[in-house]
Amino acid sequence: MIRELLSRWPLIQQLRTGVDGTGAESMTDRTRNLQPKTAGAKVARSICPYCGVGCGQLVYHKEGKLISIEGDPQSPISRGHLCPKGADTYELHTHRGRLEKVKYRAPHSREWREIPLEQAMDMVAERVWDTRERTFEETRDGQSLMQTKALAHLGGATLDCEENYLIKKLFTAGLGMVCLSNQARI
Ligand code: SF4
Repeated sequence: MIRELLSRWPLIQQLRTGVDGTGAESMTDRTRNLQPKTAGAKVARSICPYCGVGCGQLVYHKEGKLISIEGDPQSPISRGHLCPKGADTYELHTHRGRLEKVKYRAPHSREWREIPLEQAMDMVAERVWDTRERTFEETRDGQSLMQTKALAHLGGATLDCEENYLIKKLFTAGLGMVCLSNQARI
């Protein structure tokens, strides 16, 4: 038993084989059998959510639980690389400080309270529609105008071409908004 244990000791193996101890002989059985945290996980291909570069990501998950998010070597844009921000996407999803409920502070209130997402979306839609109804100008000086300057939209850098197309179509052609901007235009 002791003899067997000693024979597995990396130092004994080095002495026995005469190698310099920088290769596999320096590994313990535990090291040799280590598995990556993604072993046995399923993987889905995705895009980094942070900026318009659109680097490819591999999202590893097991039994409905997120395991890791890494760069996708097959992405023609990023070829497996992620910048420090993109490399932290896993923490974006899993950090204990992440807010998961909508916070609402009513006018003149000092308190934030949690409200359901559905309710928040309805409140936003109601305010947008009410503002549009109150401020929409069909004509000015006898000329057709069909616009409102009371609403604006500022888009983030993650929006892609298709999303920007839909935003422009809904907000400008649909609601008559003229104040639209987006980091993606740079
Ligand atoms: S934030 Fe970084 S990793 Fe993500 S798309 Fe932009 S450059 Fe790529």
